[in-house]
Amino acid sequence: METLSQLLFPQVTMTPEDLEAKYPPRNLPEGAVVTRMAPSPTGFVHLGNLVQGLTAERMAHRTGGVLFLRVEDTDAKREVPGAVEVLIESLKHYGIAFDEGAAVNGDRGDYGPYRQRQRAEIYHVYAKLLVEKGMAYPCFCTEEELSAMRERQEANKETTGYYGHYALWRDRPMEDVKAALAAGKPWVLRFRSPGDSSRQFKFNDLVKGTLTVTENDVDHVLLKADGIPTYHFAHAVDDHLMRTTHVVRGDEWLPSLPFHIQLFQALGFKLPKYVHIGPLMKMDGASKRKLSKRKDPELALTYYQAEGFPVEAVYEYIMTLLNSNYEDWRRANPVADAADFPFSAKKLNPAGNLFDYAKLTDVSKNEIAKMPAQKVCALLTQWAQQYDPAFGAKLAADPAYVEAIFAIGRGGKKPRKDLATWKDAKEYMGFFYDEYLAAPEFDPKFPRETVAKVLARYLETGDPADDAAAWFDRIKAITEEIGFTTDMRAYKADPEAFPGTVADVSGFLRVAITGKTNSPDLYTVIRVLGWDRANGRVRAALERLK
Ligand code: GLU
Repeated sequence: METLSQLLFPQVTMTPEDLEAKYPPRNLPEGAVVTRMAPSPTGFVHLGNLVQGLTAERMAHRTGGVLFLRVEDTDAKREVPGAVEVLIESLKHYGIAFDEGAAVNGDRGDYGPYRQRQRAEIYHVYAKLLVEKGMAYPCFCTEEELSAMRERQEANKETTGYYGHYALWRDRPMEDVKAALAAGKPWVLRFRSPGDSSRQFKFNDLVKGTLTVTENDVDHVLLKADGIPTYHFAHAVDDHLMRTTHVVRGDEWLPSLPFHIQLFQALGFKLPKYVHIGPLMKMDGASKRKLSKRKDPELALTYYQAEGFPVEAVYEYIMTLLNSNYEDWRRANPVADAADFPFSAKKLNPAGNLFDYAKLTDVSKNEIAKMPAQKVCALLTQWAQQYDPAFGAKLAADPAYVEAIFAIGRGGKKPRKDLATWKDAKEYMGFFYDEYLAAPEFDPKFPRETVAKVLARYLETGDPADDAAAWFDRIKAITEEIGFTTDMRAYKADPEAFPGTVADVSGFLRVAITGKTNSPDLYTVIRVLGWDRANGRVRAALERLK
């Protein structure tokens, strides 16, 4: 056996012991979770990455453990230039703080390299070890042979794969192997599975609970013909050497788990704990389906940035998805740091999560409503500069003005909830800028002369020294002057008895000043806008009525 391993891996000089010494067990407190995100840089970062990332991050940091980022870049075909940077930046944008691993400005940590392509030598040490132990062997089957085998299996209605008597190179004599190597035939390294598909065993997953799974009997590929490992082999080696205690990953890997368990055993590694996260789903008509990259733009993380959801809102929403008790906790602790929430992986829904856009919008309204005006101003300006540059330039030109606008109705017990995303801002407060002010459209139910009379009297009687109460008294005086009522109760009891009310009168002014039938408190709007500027708008509206 020794000779076969040397024949296959003549370049390997390091030993497993060297690697054990180089990557010693981490010195962490009892119960500390060491976990990772191990995405493949496909150029597409999605909400599922964030769900996994947040789960891993919370598990690590709530226990005084470590979160690291490993880039799984062994699949050169799926490589997209710049994808690693996009990945790192997006995760950072959403506040997933890695303690070590791949980073844009240089990877850091003592358990690297953190990019799989830089770890080829390490994988080969363990590949050699498995060959020495008789747990792995080279297979020289060609693509044609393998597909012929698959066809035969399908025709016979057998399980497809390289197993049992289909494992053609499993017990080949050494001369055959030597001859194939001497002939320069390409080979892959296969695992010699000790499993039997008629046997089952129990396994405990932290999310899925106790599962009964079937043993793996397939001799899966460990190293491809170019010497690059498959995900399975790299996962075992990396998560062992990086001293991962918990593997947090998507449940699409669950079917491979029996194979992974065998691999850890064959390599003599302690099995980490597994946290298999269910998929993100959405309602499609009456049924649920997985979010799809092709059909659902909301799967992409960039979508949330472009739509203008603040990071805080997305974070908060994902927490409500992950732990069903989060919302109650949040209600009891409205201003607490989310990091104080007793997050538990055990509370994750084993079946996955139902993504609900309306709920996200709701959460986002609350998050924005809680932010101080200064923060709203800063985040909105930043967003607009990227996604609506003309608007962004306006906002950036006078931040104090923007802050004053967003201070209206903020703070206090019942803050205004006008914005779900930054995209909603222009519609809500664009009228504070002349460029975005809509032409006044008065309710045609009222005669133009009545509206004109109100606007004219407002301009004649207004006094810039008015406080809110005095200002409103003048509005009431105009109301009575034109024969409308200020008695809302009487009006409600018999609307037919009155041509209109004080609310209609304020409405005329509101439309004249804001171009809208809905706005925050009008007196405050006038104060922020400036008395004369508001009057100018009333005058212009009056002109249009003539
Ligand atoms: N590269 C794998 C993926 O993106 C990683 C799975 C894992 O976290 O182990 O699905």
